[in-house]
Amino acid sequence: MTFDYDLFVIGGGSGGVRAARIAASEYGARVGLAEESRMGGTCVIRGCVPKKLMIFASQAEAQAAEARGYGWQGADAGRFDWQAFRHKLDAELTRLEGAYTGGLVAADVDIHKQRARLHDAHTVELADGQRLTAKHILIAVGGRPSLPGIPGEELGLISDDLFTLETLPGRVLVVGGGFIACEFATILRGLGCETVLAYRGDAVLRGFDGEMRRHVTEQLRAIGVDVRLGSNPARLDREGGALRVGFEDGGAEVFDAVMFATGRAPYTKGLGLEELGVRLGRKGEIAVDEWSQSSVPSIYAVGDVTDRVNLTPVAIREGHSFADTVFGAKPRKVDHGLVASAVYTRPHELASIGLTEDEAEKRGPVDIYAASFRPMRSLFAGSDARAVMKLIVDAESDKVLGCHIFGPEAGEMIQMVAVPMGMGATKADFDAAIAVHPTLAEELVTMRKPTRRLGDDKSDKQHASA
Ligand code: NDP
Repeated sequence: MTFDYDLFVIGGGSGGVRAARIAASEYGARVGLAEESRMGGTCVIRGCVPKKLMIFASQAEAQAAEARGYGWQGADAGRFDWQAFRHKLDAELTRLEGAYTGGLVAADVDIHKQRARLHDAHTVELADGQRLTAKHILIAVGGRPSLPGIPGEELGLISDDLFTLETLPGRVLVVGGGFIACEFATILRGLGCETVLAYRGDAVLRGFDGEMRRHVTEQLRAIGVDVRLGSNPARLDREGGALRVGFEDGGAEVFDAVMFATGRAPYTKGLGLEELGVRLGRKGEIAVDEWSQSSVPSIYAVGDVTDRVNLTPVAIREGHSFADTVFGAKPRKVDHGLVASAVYTRPHELASIGLTEDEAEKRGPVDIYAASFRPMRSLFAGSDARAVMKLIVDAESDKVLGCHIFGPEAGEMIQMVAVPMGMGATKADFDAAIAVHPTLAEELVTMRKPTRRLGDDKSDKQHASA
């Protein structure tokens, strides 16, 4: 049977674009790609990129305060012009969108700027009714914000909306305690909004190291976010031009805007997957094997739509590995076991890789090496903000099992820690590196004595009887 394409990709985000480009340019595959929105997907258009630019924008007051701490009399951030920023942001996103499109065009990928759905195991149907056949189909449609299911939630915003607001809200409620809630609460507060964060749990960032979660929670409070733990909205109602939020505990308050950051879900609805017998998981994610192949052999999926590790670089690696495997005769699997990530809060970021203390303790015995200190730069400027660095080390093999950093540019540091950890480095390997002084990162190679040992029954008992 002859097909129109060797590969048809549905979704022009990080994973889909990488797979299409590699299959076409490196391996000579005939590739078509459909994207219903802007090329680049969540990360480039509605996520990582604009978010990080907003984080930078939101730091001006803190930077001015630091400059004053260094003797710059009268240093002042001035007045933030949201419209001017948005204008520049739009231009930058258009530039990036062009770069993504240009990469595909240069690789001879046919771009279809419309929605596509599956018709059968080798055919996609475009919104204009056109049907195209392909030997392989890759689904890389990502995820969409999910709402909590409360009355009036349609009146709230989702993270996509934050980049296109006409004006910034005076008083805003952020709902949730995950990546997006913490980062946007930081941004909104930094841009001058009165910001309340309502999270149903007892410390933000569930899944991260417990000690670090407490530090992020405290930092949000320290920068002026009104963090309400154990708090959750029950309904939203319009009240004039504002929103009245009724909380589960019976209280009610008025906000100019409410932003839901209550998780994301795979965007599989309406793609024709169920009709074709493609197996889906509980959240609607496409169930795939280690080669990203679905239960229908011609259909593959990468990125957030598979709900494995929902991070852009993971989607890119999955897309690239798929192309290498299927078109390059170079079978490559993605190791999802050791993936670093960072939450871009300010002034300190939280960055992590590997096991948390809780997870490591269950495997025990583990030694915890931890350092908590006030970084020289902010201390001099008069800030009390503390940075924390932690290594979790297998007490028997000396292997470093986890690293958690709460500090300025922690994301930059964890990237470099990911290299030795991926190679199976021991604490002795870390110690063998001579420090670069004075830096924050030198703490990672100068922590000589464990702060505590966990998961060791014998030593726990000794402590108890001492
Ligand atoms: P997360 O899964 O990180 O957090 C969702 C939050 O919403 C949790 O605090 C959760 O609470 C809460 N929540 C979920 N359902 C409800 C509900 N019904 N009512 C009230 N609260 C609820 O999702 P995000 O939306 O923050 O981010 C989505 C994904 O995007 C992340 O998992 C991450 O993979 C990616 N991302 C990565 C970034 C980065 O790398 N820096 C930045 C932004 C996003 P609970 O903890 O109790 O379940």
